[in-house]
Formats: sequence, C-alpha cells, structure tokens
Amino acid sequence: MVADVRRGLPSVDAVLRSPALRPLLAAYARPAVTGLAREALAAARAGTGETLPTADEVAERVATMARERWRIGPRPVINATGVILHTNLGRAPLSRAAAEAALAVAQGYSALEFDPRSGKRGSRHDHLTPLLREVTGAEDGIAVNNTAAALVLALAALCRRREVIVSRGQAVEIGGGFRIPDIMRQGGATLVEVGTTNRTRLSDYEAALTERTGAILRVHSSNFRIIGFTESVPVAQLAPLARARDISLIDDVGSGALLDVRRYGLAAEPLVQESVSAGADLVLFSGDKLLGGPQAGVIVGRAASVARLRKHPLMRALRLDKVTIALLSATLLHYVRGEAAREIPVWRMIAARPEALEARAREWLRRLPALDGVVAAVEPVSSTIGGGALPGETLPSHALTLRAARRPAAWATRFAATLRAGEPAVVARVEDDRVVVDPRAVLPEEDDRLVAALHAALTPTP
Ligand SMILES: *Cc1c(COP(=O)(O)O)cnc(C)c1O
Repeated sequence: MVADVRRGLPSVDAVLRSPALRPLLAAYARPAVTGLAREALAAARAGTGETLPTADEVAERVATMARERWRIGPRPVINATGVILHTNLGRAPLSRAAAEAALAVAQGYSALEFDPRSGKRGSRHDHLTPLLREVTGAEDGIAVNNTAAALVLALAALCRRREVIVSRGQAVEIGGGFRIPDIMRQGGATLVEVGTTNRTRLSDYEAALTERTGAILRVHSSNFRIIGFTESVPVAQLAPLARARDISLIDDVGSGALLDVRRYGLAAEPLVQESVSAGADLVLFSGDKLLGGPQAGVIVGRAASVARLRKHPLMRALRLDKVTIALLSATLLHYVRGEAAREIPVWRMIAARPEALEARAREWLRRLPALDGVVAAVEPVSSTIGGGALPGETLPSHALTLRAARRPAAWATRFAATLRAGEPAVVARVEDDRVVVDPRAVLPEEDDRLVAALHAALTPTP
C-alpha cells in the first residue's frame, strides 16, 4: 500500500468511493466489488503505462469487468448462420411448450421420483418411458445425459470385459472427444474391427464372432459420407445373427429422426422406429439433434436389455435432472400429438419454404437504415442442418447480404465481429467477402431484435 501511494495509485477505498461504482455496489455484494477493485489496481500496478489512472478511471475499469464477467451464461444469441443444429450455439432451440414445462418444474417441487397416487417412491424414468414407447414402438426406453453417455452405459452394462464387433467404416470420430475406440475403452469393452473402410459384409461379422463377443455395434456415419464402392450391413440382417448367438445388437443412429427428412428433399437419415422394428436390442440417439429437444442420450429397445441399463450403477452418474426430463417429455409429447413438424422449432426450420425465407430477408432489407458505401441485397444461399446430421446436404435459402464497396473482405470480418459484440449478439457467416444473414435458423419472433441489432451495427456511434 505504501508503495502504491508512493507510485501515486489510488487506494481501494478511493476506488470504491467513486460515483461510477455506486450502481455496482447496489447490485453486487461489497466483497465481490472490492475483489475486482484490487484486481484492477494490481493490473494498473503491473502495467507499463506512463500515466497512472485516477480512482474514477479504475472504477470505470471495474464496472466494465463486472459487466463482462457477472452475467447469466450462456448468453442468448441470434443464429443467422443458416446452420440449424449448430453445436457451438446450443444445437436445438426448444418449443414454447417445452420451455414452459421446464419453468414450472424448475420453480417448484415436482413428482420426480414420487407416485402421487400411492404416496410412495417412484422412478424418474417413468415420465419418459411411456412416451418413448409410443413414439418409437420399442418395449422400453430411458434417457441419460447425452449419446456418448448412453453408449458408455450400454457397453458397461452389456459388454464389460467382452468383445464388441464394429465395422471398420464405423469406428469413427463423431465430434470433439467422441471416438468409438475411446468410448469402447471407457465402457470396459474390447473393440474388434471387421471389414474395410468402405465395405463390410455379413460374413465379416460372422467370422469375427467368438465366445467372448458381447455385442455387435452399428454407428451411423453422421458427419461424413462415403460414396461409391460401398457396402454395409443393415440392422435387419444383423439382428438374426445377434439373436442366434445370444449377443446384443446396439445401433447408435445419432440424430434421432422420428420424422422422415426425405419429405423435405433431403437424403434419408436413419429413423429410430425402423431400427427398432428391424430388431436392434438397443437404439441410441441424441435428444438435441433432429428430435429437437434438450441435450440427452435416449436409449430405447428390448425390455430385458434396457432393464440391465436401468439397474447399472453408472446410471446414477449419468441420470437426467428434473428440468431436462420436463423438456424431453414435452418435446416427445409433440410427436405423440402428431404436431412435431408444426411445434418443434428444428422441424419448422427444416420445413421453411425458400419463398417464405426470401420474404423475411426482403422485410429485413426494407427496414435497414440508409447505407453509405455498403450494398445490401437478398440473394439465394444454402443452409445446412449441422450438428452431425446429413453431411453435404443443403437446403435452398435466401439471405440478406451486406458487402462494402471498398475493401470488402476486411469490412465483412469487422462487421461480423460488430454483430457478435452487439446486444443481442448476432452470429452471421462471412462468405465471398460479404456478411450473410440467413433467416433459416432465426426464430420469427426474433426478427424485430435482429433488425434492431443490424441497425445498431450499421449506425456508427460517435
Ligand atoms: C451426435 C452423435 C453422437 C453424440 O451424441 P451426443 O448426444 O452429442 O453425445 C453419437 N453418435 C452419433 C452417431 C452421433 O451422430
């Protein structure tokens, strides 16, 4: 402190007395603000600046630090990238019914593990099982934290210290940290690869069966596509083999499509119901991809197989919380009611017609301020599904595009950054030296706020 005074830095008390900190001290606990003030002073002490900051200047710095650090996270953003299931932006936006169900459960108590009729203990799985049976046709169903967890649980419960046969073309990496060989180790199983990268036949699986085999695992190639001279064995052919040898057939279908994406002009994604009816013992899929719900790993299949997972000690570590269960059950109910394509945002975005998207982009364009040196237009573009589903497939879309007359590349990078820093933050993509604002994954109720954000970013503040 003495050294600080000698160096001319203000004291912590002087910073806390600054009028700039009055709102902060009203909103946050005093020790928290004091901690920031000490940190800001330490940074000023370590700095090489010629002039020392005044108490008010340090206080301003403290206010900025508080604004940046102390807020509810993750902060909402408007997804103008055109990628519907953007993993870094939280994948699926949920339906209003799902959000309302979660709010009700979050704010009060709920019959999470309680049977109100008998007054006795119930199971948290009971909220999902009847819905999962209905929408997939499976005998039983449960859910855990995500599909990676679902696979670890399935392997641990059914294949511990046993061999698991996987086609060489399916021993893949799905996304950061999700590699089939690693997951296999976590589940305590031994990976046996069969076939080749592009072709695997039924005889390859047959030849690999031993008395140590615990399961055959299929993994959908969610995020890549092998084309040309290829062959893989469908569930319907593997099921009799697994049954005859009394081993499990596990099918990780990934995106969890319950509706056929082909009706929207996209290539087929495996349907959960088809894998179940083709005879898989367990079918695993994500809650937050094409299902359109919260992050979860859903497991459906034969009663005897699912029962072993329910009882496994790992289940306790991977189980869902009440809010996610409410979100997932409300999402599944949309399918039971036959209203999924209308009520689930992900499906509305996939189904959105190019003309409707063009009309929205034109309306955004019409509402922009007068531009100087920037050309705004509505142009045809391609949107993608993202989230490890339908690789290479695109949906025809129309987007608002903004391009500077001079030095367009540098301007586009800078303007996209300005949009990201705005309130609300807008994430757009930069393509061909222009900023592309794609309506595909922007919720219609976000339109006004998006236009306001564009206005703010295009209107330089003095
Ligand atoms: C996305 C995906 C996963 C991982 O799912 P998470 O729910 O994100 O853990 C696993 N397998 C396949 C085939 C996938 O497509």
